[in-house]
Amino acid sequence: MTPRELIAFVGASASVRRNEKERSSAIGTREDIMLDKAPDGKMSDLLNALDKALSAGEVERAVDLFQTDCYWRDLVTFTWNIKTMEGTEQVRDMLKARLADTKPSNWKIADGEDASETDGIIESWIQFETEVARGFGHMRLKDGRIWTLLTTMSELKGHEEPLGFDRPMGAKHGAERNRKTWKEEREAEAAELGYSRQPYCVIVGGGQGGIALGARLRQLNVPTIIVEKNERPGDSWRKRYKSLCLHDPVWYDHLPYLPFPRNWPVFSPKDKIGDWLEMYTKVMELNYWGATECKKASYDQKSCEWTVIVQRDGKEVVLKPKQLVLATGMSAKPNIPKFEGMDIFKGDQHHSSQHPGPDKYKNKKAVVIGSNNSAHDICAALWEAGVDVTMVQRSTTHVVKSDSLMELGLASLYSEQAVQSGMTTAKADLIFASLPYKILHEFQIPVYNAIRERDADYYKRLEKAGFLLDYGDDDSGLFMKYLRRGSGYYIDVGASELVANGSIKLKSGVDVKKLKEHSVILTDGTELPADLVVYATGYGSMNGFAADLISREVADKVGKVWGLGSNTTKDPGPWEGEQRNMWKPTQQDALWFHGGNLHQSRHYSQFLSLQLKARMEGIPTPVYGLQEVHHLG
Ligand SMILES: Cc1cc2nc3c(=O)[nH]c(=O)nc-3n(C[C@H](O)[C@H](O)[C@H](O)COP(=O)(O)OP(=O)(O)OC[C@H]3O[C@@H](n4cnc5c(N)ncnc54)[C@H](O)[C@@H]3O)c2cc1C
Repeated sequence: MTPRELIAFVGASASVRRNEKERSSAIGTREDIMLDKAPDGKMSDLLNALDKALSAGEVERAVDLFQTDCYWRDLVTFTWNIKTMEGTEQVRDMLKARLADTKPSNWKIADGEDASETDGIIESWIQFETEVARGFGHMRLKDGRIWTLLTTMSELKGHEEPLGFDRPMGAKHGAERNRKTWKEEREAEAAELGYSRQPYCVIVGGGQGGIALGARLRQLNVPTIIVEKNERPGDSWRKRYKSLCLHDPVWYDHLPYLPFPRNWPVFSPKDKIGDWLEMYTKVMELNYWGATECKKASYDQKSCEWTVIVQRDGKEVVLKPKQLVLATGMSAKPNIPKFEGMDIFKGDQHHSSQHPGPDKYKNKKAVVIGSNNSAHDICAALWEAGVDVTMVQRSTTHVVKSDSLMELGLASLYSEQAVQSGMTTAKADLIFASLPYKILHEFQIPVYNAIRERDADYYKRLEKAGFLLDYGDDDSGLFMKYLRRGSGYYIDVGASELVANGSIKLKSGVDVKKLKEHSVILTDGTELPADLVVYATGYGSMNGFAADLISREVADKVGKVWGLGSNTTKDPGPWEGEQRNMWKPTQQDALWFHGGNLHQSRHYSQFLSLQLKARMEGIPTPVYGLQEVHHLG
């Protein structure tokens, strides 16, 4: 699908859902703006009308420009939050609360862009300003009214990143006594920050999430320390199982500012991505404290300051930042099941995150508990090394072939074809962000239906081997599963064939009953002899890190991290509209969560960094629609 086709697809499926025609003649305020004009004209007229209504503070006139079933997704510009307003009632409520402060102006088609029309949907990149920021966004019009609106903050006025014409000089021309070199200045900063001078922000966790956010904060001149218990940047990837390569392709994985070179492999091997992160940390001049573990953090409501106790080089250091970001990884807190007999099992047993690789298990017997990504990768690597391996599948798994996912799921935005057709990473991210979560599954279902049709024989063979398949609760496939629960799938890079042909043995629909000294007993009574048991049983919520590092009370106050409230498996309702607690204010002042896959880390680090910068500069940041907490960790 080309980007244009994607939009057409979005439009087509929306018009099936509802018919807005009965409203289109009723509103007088926009009659003059929908004359028979080219898309640019229609879009500009709408933007002018919006501009006038908003500048005049006329909320009702502005609301009249929206479809009843509209979606306005705001990334920080109006709401100082990450928030989707669904329907005109919510748009009205938000504007009543935020319009006077926000003072938006200069709405227009983005410089150098044109509006386009496909199947009755007019869409365009747009730009606008608020009193304190410049914004960029995307708008889709249906029947002459706004159907989807994305507004994102690009930069804070007066606090722009030093880029392009504004890049630093580097050299200081002229003559100066006792001048310091760049290296000396960096060394001086490294020596004082966290000791004689406090950072404004501490990021706990120096995986790719902490690193991407650190890079953005560096450009915004927000003094920041990243603390990471591993020794070197990239170690969180290096320490994963030996055979791991990224499951997402390179076009989806770029970091901010510094894209991978054009010869970078499609699926990056884990040690290579580790090296890239290490290089990135260095060249982006991050204050990265490796081999430093955060032990405890507490917030003083009076001084609005955190006390963060870290262990660095065997010594305790106390940091006093104003803002604390937990970037400790959503796939980092292992879920280890408790089975009877684990204490008497004589072989090796470990969680998938601790699995060293297959080398020492040649000609031995392994049982892998679980059937998602890690389980498949580990089983395949064990089989390749000559290990007799059995996968134990308790419940259904969504499996999708990597090439089908790339071609049908991602290619329109993240692929070489997309690049060739002029798609940039930033635009791809924004198009993705412009699709409202509430209806995203509706666009995903046809994609996975097409994949099921295309790979029907493959799925039949897997089922014949006894593998229990699902396609998501509502058949919306992998990406929705990821956003809703962050688990429950395998992107097939080869292991499924081994399952289908019996090379990887499979026991499905059963659980582990207990372990004996040299075997695993399943609930159906099967006894599997084992020298190795791998628990590929996934990871716990980032909320658990808040409990460990801060307190159970604060963890409960902020509630569950991740998920949309879709009322599907492992993502209980009510509907939240955005991912819980991610990249936005939480119920605990000055506490933030950052992470996700490489795409999310790249994209949302921009909006989190701007929220932090605004606070540092004392720019008022009244949060609209702070999320309520419906679930504990
Ligand atoms: C097997 C596997 C395959 C994956 N494949 C992909 C993929 O293809 N593409 C993709 O985008 N994502 C993938 N992911 C998801 C992956 O977890 C994330 O992309 C990435 O690792 C998340 O980065 P992060 O920085 O948020 O978390 P992490 O990389 O987990 O980093 C968190 C860091 O926090 C540190 N930390 C935790 N507690 C403390 C403490 N108290 N003090 C100091 N440091 C602490 C940890 O040491 C760790 O380095 C995969 C995950 C797994 C497990």
